[in-house]
Order: sequence, then structure tokens, then C-alpha cells
Amino acid sequence: MNATRLPPLSYSNLTTFAACQKQYELRYLSALGWPLIPAGDAVASEEAEHLGNLFHLAVEQRANDQDVSLLLNESPKLHAWWLAFLRNRFDRPQGHVWHEARLGLPFGDERILVVMDRLQNIDGQWTVWDWKTGRQFQREALGKSWQTRLYRFALAQAGQIFNAGEPIPPAAITMAYWSAEHDRIERFPYDAEAYAADGQAILLAIGKLHVARTAGFPMTGLGTACDAKGRPCSFVPLCLGTTGANDLMAETWEPDGDPVREPDDDPFV
Ligand code: SF4
Repeated sequence: MNATRLPPLSYSNLTTFAACQKQYELRYLSALGWPLIPAGDAVASEEAEHLGNLFHLAVEQRANDQDVSLLLNESPKLHAWWLAFLRNRFDRPQGHVWHEARLGLPFGDERILVVMDRLQNIDGQWTVWDWKTGRQFQREALGKSWQTRLYRFALAQAGQIFNAGEPIPPAAITMAYWSAEHDRIERFPYDAEAYAADGQAILLAIGKLHVARTAGFPMTGLGTACDAKGRPCSFVPLCLGTTGANDLMAETWEPDGDPVREPDDDPFV
């Protein structure tokens, strides 16, 4: 066994690494829990995360023909999301569908792991669906996110396990996000050029991960990720001491509401 092997690359840990190398180390390689201490409005954050997780559970249960009414009674917000879900007929998907589809693959001395909320194949056109329950839903950020890049790449690189052994061409793949809060869909088609660029970007990220590991994962979040979007990093007391922590924790922060679902969560999108 390779003792220095990194955790599988996920969109969550790649996003974290891009924000701060130290946060990546503390979150994914140390024995410290995440979050180390609650940041901002912890109660609102936990509630939003709870509802997001319940919504994903309801989708999965409905796909297995289970009754979800009890689960939905947890909250009016959950009901509203579910009604929007039904209005879109997402409960009756066409074609061939996989839920919570996991795809792991070796790439560039490391492994990639993606967990797709729903994978759908209609006549050779493949859509990776992701349900977003947070308030933030910005097309530009989604398009540039590691989730969009990693999921489409993984499917083009190793999607043959879903396709009777046949590779899935990049041009047949689309990443689609649906916002439960805004009832809006954003689609991101793929192509060979973007596939090649993503492969290079992932290899570059792997190289940077290896360099950072050799350097002991220096702090790079100072001035940015420590207080990203007014959301203080939970490791501030470790890195900046209690004075820095008090300064940042005093600032206003609102939860974005998307569930934290290891190993493939994304705290930023
Ligand atoms: S407090 Fe700042 S430097 Fe420390 S892990 Fe968090 S983002 Fe990185």
C-alpha cells in the first residue's frame, strides 16, 4: 500500500485545495473533524444542510417507489421543493436512469471519484443531473466549478461501465443543475476540446497537490479563503489564533443551504 496516497480526487477536495492548501490538509488528511468549530450561524447552517440531505433522500426513495410523504412533512420548504420537482416531471424520468451513481477511475497516479445525483441516458444523450438546494445558483460559477469539469470528464473517461462497455463521447454528455430554490435548470454541454482541457487541468491539479504535500501544505487561504464570502473558515483558530478567529466570526454570514455530503460535497457552489 502506498502510504502517501491522497484521497480520491472529488470536486469537493479539489475546490478546497484551490481555495487553500492548508484547509485541504486539515480537512482531508488530518484526524480533525470538519467543521472544527461551527462558523457563522451554525443553527441555520445545520438546518439548511439537514433539509438538503432530506431532499436528496426523498428523490432516492421516490426512485425506489417508496412513500416520501412523511419525510416531506419535516418542513414547508421541503414541500415547496418537492412540488417544483414534480412540476418538472423529474419523478418520471425518461430513458435509462441511475441514481446516486458512483464512478471511480484511476487518473495520473491518483484516483477520481464522482457521485452523480442522477445519470440519465436518452437515445445516446447522457445527462448528469445535480439537485441544488442552496440559495446560490449562478451559471458562471457553476460552469467554472470543479463539479462540472470533473463529472463530465469522468463520464467521458470511464463511463463505459454504464454503456455496455462502449465509451461515451464527450459531445454526448451534458451536466445539468436544477435549483430547487429557484426552480431553474442550467445545462453545460461537453465536447472533445473541453474534455482535453479538463484532462490537462486535472493533471495540473494533481501536480500541484504533490508539490504542496512535499512542502507541507502551506497556508494559502490568507486574505481570501480564511473569510471566503464572509464565511469564516472553521480552521481560523488553528491558523490565525483566537484574535483572528474573533474578528472573522463576528462578521455576518448566511448559509448557502446545500447539504454537506462527503466525499463529494462542495462548500462553495
Ligand atoms: S484559516 Fe485560512 S489558512 Fe487556515 S486552513 Fe482556513 S483558509 Fe486555510
